[in-house]
Amino acid sequence: MILFRKAAAASDFLNGRRMSGKSIGFVPTMGALHAGHLSLVEKAKAENNLVVCSIFVNPAQFNDPGDLERYPRPIERDIELLTLAGCDVLLLPSVEDIYPREGLLHLHRYDLGHLEHFLEGRSRPGHFQGVANVVDRLLSIVNPDNLYLGQKDFQQVKVLEWLVAHTGRSTHIVICPILREENGLAMSSRNIRLDASNLEKACIIFQSLQFAAANYQLYAPSELQAICIKHIESIPNASVDYLEFCDTGSFQSVNDWRDAEHIVAVTAVMLSGVRLLDNMLIK
Ligand code: AMP
Repeated sequence: MILFRKAAAASDFLNGRRMSGKSIGFVPTMGALHAGHLSLVEKAKAENNLVVCSIFVNPAQFNDPGDLERYPRPIERDIELLTLAGCDVLLLPSVEDIYPREGLLHLHRYDLGHLEHFLEGRSRPGHFQGVANVVDRLLSIVNPDNLYLGQKDFQQVKVLEWLVAHTGRSTHIVICPILREENGLAMSSRNIRLDASNLEKACIIFQSLQFAAANYQLYAPSELQAICIKHIESIPNASVDYLEFCDTGSFQSVNDWRDAEHIVAVTAVMLSGVRLLDNMLIK
């Protein structure tokens, strides 16, 4: 695996590979890698000549400075995991390289429409502007044929679909399934901040989504929402930030199951100060 710390050097190298006809798959991450991230690398490997992964803890997408500070950064272990996974190129840029000339203070503003202030965007002001800024910059550096994103961050996928479409890129987005712990909890870099008891009880989030998928036709959306929230909040120290049923296309919430052909249940739960996201296609 070749490691680049400078965006320009990575770009030069990748341009050369592209000129010689190699297809490029790209997996952007914030590190603290787990099997979920590695499943994206594996899929990218199967579908491209060259796999590029980036690790960049993006300050622009953290609205809580404490969360940014506490974000795990086990870089040596990440390098080892990516090497073992057969990743070809690792991009490890500095903040200055991604946001040159005080760029962090003058972020580009994207017109993300309702996605910006809805659900995850409402709870984390500025978060999706930060995500759009960093991914736009990373796409300019890597210029991949295929971009691998996890369904785990469903709203983020919607934002990045918008970004790719509105910046005129030909990059194809590949959405990858959510990898889960044995008990069903969605894998996340933040899970290591949960103690054993919380780790065990957090499976109730997954179980609630499964219940929603199996029984949605028996209830109105608002009734099912209340049942799921109550179930999740039976975990001590858990509070549901949101649990919504959304049209997978428009990402607007539905008031009636007939409102959309495909519906996803999305939730964010604070458990002992740790933010856990999950979602499931229910229709
Ligand atoms: P992050 O490092 O959290 O920014 O995640 C990097 C990429 O990995 C994003 O596209 C995530 O959606 C994806 N990802 C995170 N957790 C999982 C998971 N449990 N299963 C599959 N993909 C995931």
